[in-house]
Amino acid sequence: MKSAHVPVRTCIGCGEGFPQADLIRIKLSGGKLTICPEGSGLAGRSVYLCAKESCWNKALRKGSIVFKSAKHRRLVLSLDAKEKDHFIFQLKKFVNRYLKTSNA
Ligand SMILES: [Zn+2]
Repeated sequence: MKSAHVPVRTCIGCGEGFPQADLIRIKLSGGKLTICPEGSGLAGRSVYLCAKESCWNKALRKGSIVFKSAKHRRLVLSLDAKEKDHFIFQLKKFVNRYLKTSNA
């Protein structure tokens, strides 16, 4: 399938580009991480992760997630071990529910 109109986003774990619909969108809202289903039009800082668990661990390897965008200043959100576990759990739930990609 070839289309010039598929938005491509970059996974913060592996740095590869994927169609937006294949990625997990993580939004920072009120100092909390929210995993957004596709199409939720909330404004704010977002980063994307692909469905690979290795990427989640890579993105969280220092216990923090870095949000950066052209419009905003770089922002680092730190997670303690418990928050990190909870976040991984939520990512798994999201992948099972919304993404068809098998978890390699
Ligand atoms: Zn990735």
